[in-house]
Amino acid sequence: MKSQDIRKAYLQFFESKNHLIVPSAPIVLKDDPTLMFNNSGMAQFKEFFLGNGTPKSPRIADTQKCLRVSGKHNDLEDVGFDTYHHTMFEMLGNWSFGDYFKKEALAWAWEFLTEVLKLDKDRLYVSVFEGNPAENVPFDQEAFDIWKQYVSEDRIILGNKKDNFWEMGDQGPCGPCSEIHIDLRTDAERAAVSGRSLVNADHPQVVEIWNNVFMEFNRKADGSLEKLPAQHVDTGMGFERLCMAMQGVTSNYDTDVFTPLIHKVESITGLKYTSNEIKSISEEQNKINIAIRVIVDHVRAVAFAIADGQLPSNTGAGYVIRRILRRAIRYGFTFLNQKEAFIHQLVAVLADQMGEFFPEIRAQHNLVTNVIKEEEASFLRTLEQGLQLLDKVVAETQGTEVKGEKVFELYDTFGFPKDLTALILKEKGFTYQEAEFEAELAKQKARSRAASEVTTEDWKVLIEGNVETFVGYDQTENEVKIT
Ligand code: ATP
Ligand code: MG
Ligand code: MG
Ligand code: MG
Repeated sequence: MKSQDIRKAYLQFFESKNHLIVPSAPIVLKDDPTLMFNNSGMAQFKEFFLGNGTPKSPRIADTQKCLRVSGKHNDLEDVGFDTYHHTMFEMLGNWSFGDYFKKEALAWAWEFLTEVLKLDKDRLYVSVFEGNPAENVPFDQEAFDIWKQYVSEDRIILGNKKDNFWEMGDQGPCGPCSEIHIDLRTDAERAAVSGRSLVNADHPQVVEIWNNVFMEFNRKADGSLEKLPAQHVDTGMGFERLCMAMQGVTSNYDTDVFTPLIHKVESITGLKYTSNEIKSISEEQNKINIAIRVIVDHVRAVAFAIADGQLPSNTGAGYVIRRILRRAIRYGFTFLNQKEAFIHQLVAVLADQMGEFFPEIRAQHNLVTNVIKEEEASFLRTLEQGLQLLDKVVAETQGTEVKGEKVFELYDTFGFPKDLTALILKEKGFTYQEAEFEAELAKQKARSRAASEVTTEDWKVLIEGNVETFVGYDQTENEVKIT
């Protein structure tokens, strides 16, 4: 099943359960002081959970463009190194605003996965919240009892606060959750470890695909929990992970969400990417694979952020986008031997592939390409010199901790974000003095008072007026009809 059809099947299924299908909110948030980017499907509905305002329908479903690169949910460091965490990903979600609760949510999740998509029941595991007496949240007996109707008890795993109590950020709506994991190990691997249920924490090929959150609480600024005025359901399923399960592969990068982008990188660089099914590869090939994964991941994040109006810049969300792109550029430079700008060429592939469902990427395709090309060219002007300086600094460092002032020099003169320098240092077995870097940065900020005042210049309204015009779906500002 193609990814396009999997997305459509999900939305159609929930439409058949009387959900209103709405478009994704933009990836960048400009009006929520607690959150910089949309990190989950529920962010655009947060106020409804808090009891402020009424949604258009008590049942809503969509696919949301998410970005997990800052704050409570930050997966940046894993991207490229594993095969199922992305910076930008789509989260399929269905919501009940004070309408249905655990029984329907879990029954529909099971029905969709096992009857509509026909995933193998024997490969699914579920988890429920074990409870947290310290905060007066009990063990989720109700979810446990519901799951017992569908799976044997040894496949229901109890999870702690970290995995099974979902929170959007340090503040905001939250509640116990129940996850569904899929076991993608080979039959031989499974036979070798029998008699025990597995979750992702135990094996990288047992992957969480869907989280059903039962929103009952609000985390207040002082850290305490208060009961919400009503009970809600908030679910989130990783679209790329679902595609992996459906397409019989063990890496998101081997699905048709990523292969067109990977093929484009291969044709530009003349290098080859090896699929996750090929296990014995050289160390050099492994580095090439990581670099290609990073680049095809990061270009999506950067392209969608720009298409939503967030240009790369030196402050706030704009700087996060710039950092992500610079990380990708450096991977291409060092591991794929790309000394000229090339990442912008991937935007056309992305627009082609995603434009039907996300018309903004097609409509803004020229702007996105040009912005990325310009960013690439400007960073490439100083990248080589910066890398040479870094080599010299490392060679001259006694021990394994580089001086913060050197990292600041790289930042200030060569445009190296500190986390990029940290990443390169880590590859060489080094760290740096962060406090010293921050002190240098503070001194610089004091020198140029104006720097901190440029905060909104990087935000452009781009998407007004073009959201209705995409093929195959009839979309207005508040509603998507699947045709
Ligand atoms: P994980 O434990 O794998 O990091 P999570 O528990 O942080 O996932 P949730 O916050 O529960 O994820 O989000 C709901 C779903 O979104 C997950 O079940 C997963 O399928 C998907 N998801 C979460 N983070 C990512 C990511 N970085 N890239 C791709 N999909 C993701
Ligand atoms: Mg996570
Ligand atoms: Mg998890
Ligand atoms: Mg989860």
